[in-house]
Amino acid sequence: MLTDENFLKIAHEVWKWSNCVSKKVWAIIVKNTRILSTGYNGTPSGYINCSEHFSGKYSEDHYKWSDIYEIHAEMNAIFWAARKWVCIEWATMYVMLEPCLQCTKNLIAAGIKRLVYANKYSYIDTETIAEFYKRSWVEILYIDMWEEYSQKSKRKNKLQLWNS
Ligand SMILES: [Zn+2]
Ligand SMILES: [Zn+2]
Repeated sequence: MLTDENFLKIAHEVWKWSNCVSKKVWAIIVKNTRILSTGYNGTPSGYINCSEHFSGKYSEDHYKWSDIYEIHAEMNAIFWAARKWVCIEWATMYVMLEPCLQCTKNLIAAGIKRLVYANKYSYIDTETIAEFYKRSWVEILYIDMWEEYSQKSKRKNKLQLWNS
């Protein structure tokens, strides 16, 4: 039987394919241990990638630019399911990073039943987010998997992922 850790590891395996110069995030939507949809953060297809816009380097302007032009991984996973008519109601979403406020309310609206994430995000409005979850039916699980990654000497990935 596949576990929550298995799906988080899948998300971790592919995170680097995101073209964002800041956080690289993948989200995977799973139901009955089958992957229904995936998404990573980035601009809408056809639009210039974050890494091209900033020539591969993180910049102070990123936050503002990203807010306008980039779609978060969670949303891209939900949109892909919508495009393909895949029902994600009651599904579990696995994501490497704790979802932001916008994604939180949207994934509740999309019918996600369980949320499993692998890293805390300190820049979010945790109080409002906690209130949203409290009033929803979404079950949240935080699994700190970085210990395990670092034991496999993947610490470099971790630093690249969160400190870039
Ligand atoms: Zn970006
Ligand atoms: Zn988000």
